Amino acid sequence: MKAFPQKLCNILNDYSYFPLIPAPQRRFLMHQILDQDAGAKEHLYYVAQEDTAAEFLESETEITTKNSLSRTKLPDVWQVRTKNGDVLLLYTTQKLKDNIQYLRYPEGIHLRRNGFYVEAKPSNESWRQKPFMELSAGQALPDWSLGLFFYKGDRDPFAAAEKQQRTIYLWTSILGIAAMGILVGMVGRYQIRQMRLTRLKNDFVATVTHELKTPLASMRLLTDTLLEGRYRDETQVRDYLELIGKENHRLSRLIDNFLTFSRMERNKRIFDFRKVHPADIVNAAIESVHEKVSAEGFELKINLEPNLPEIVADRDGLVTVLINLFDNAFKYSESEKWIGVHVYADKAMVCFEVTDRGLGMSRREMKNIFERFYQVDQRLSRKVGGCGLGLSIVKFIVDAHGGEIDVTSERMLGSRFGVKIPVLLENHS
Ligand code: ADP
Repeated sequence: MKAFPQKLCNILNDYSYFPLIPAPQRRFLMHQILDQDAGAKEHLYYVAQEDTAAEFLESETEITTKNSLSRTKLPDVWQVRTKNGDVLLLYTTQKLKDNIQYLRYPEGIHLRRNGFYVEAKPSNESWRQKPFMELSAGQALPDWSLGLFFYKGDRDPFAAAEKQQRTIYLWTSILGIAAMGILVGMVGRYQIRQMRLTRLKNDFVATVTHELKTPLASMRLLTDTLLEGRYRDETQVRDYLELIGKENHRLSRLIDNFLTFSRMERNKRIFDFRKVHPADIVNAAIESVHEKVSAEGFELKINLEPNLPEIVADRDGLVTVLINLFDNAFKYSESEKWIGVHVYADKAMVCFEVTDRGLGMSRREMKNIFERFYQVDQRLSRKVGGCGLGLSIVKFIVDAHGGEIDVTSERMLGSRFGVKIPVLLENHS
């Protein structure tokens, strides 16, 4: 820009310049400069204001006497008189909006902290977006409305609070219902368990009665027969005595199991943990069933691996485990009378396996066999003599040794029960 117009621009920008320049002359000169050099606009600060003032005068708007904002005949131009009444201020709508926007930060306090801001607009205009709250701007800005907005991204705190409240109610209800459901479920399960236990106990009493009565009745019959001398010869006497011995044995086993069970129930089974060789346990158990094996024509295959380590265990307890497993193998075998015993060491465990080729079980039937009183087939168990305690006792003893028990079985092919006992007992009680 040339030096002369720059100087002229300075004069035109200076409203205190003396001699005073009349408004029409100032505006004329401004436009002359702009016609020659449109780029001079940035050096002429008040062209728009002069234009608005001139348009205002031409519009013949009645000049307001109030010091509150009022419309002019020009669209988007507002007038307001200063308090002492000697100056008339003209504002475009945009300028007013900008000024009010500026109030967002009164005295440097950023309203954003509260998550909202205020916008203003002439009442007849519509909002760019719906404000959360709208009110008229008051006496100084009649015909103007103020709107309260929340910053984009900030949640409307009222809606958020309401939502939070709703969420709390919802969760309270869900948790309440869930708690009730769980409670009802627990009560239901408890009742079902109680009913099952009662039924099992009743069955147990029936089984026990039967189990005790049968050998007692047959022993009595046999002794009566012998006492009355109703026998053919010595061989028959011997046969009868053998039968009595067998029944007696069965009864003793049964009573042993009852006693173990009752001690177990009262947590009274005190184990005597000592170093013992696995072969010792197996031999003691076999000795106890030896007669039965030969009497019933079973083949017993014993496989004790060499160099088995000694274990710390309750000898009698583990003998009871094996006897119970043998007993089941006898009871649940039919034509294939074969029992296998395999003892081997596996890492820090000694494993005792008892296998039979009997009736076996399906996967479903195997599920509860370690539970007390549980019998897969009650009629069969009653026929062969059982009261559903054997395996629960086995499991109790194995658990007390910190051991494991597992079973594999297939219907009509047989079963394999595996008992693993740790070589060194940890924290035994
Ligand atoms: P029980 O006195 O009835 O034999 P157990 O607790 O010893 O009770 O066994 C539970 C059930 O597991 C038995 O009723 C039987 O159905 C099944 N069972 C146990 N051992 C065998 C096996 N070797 N072969 C097939 N079924 C078995």
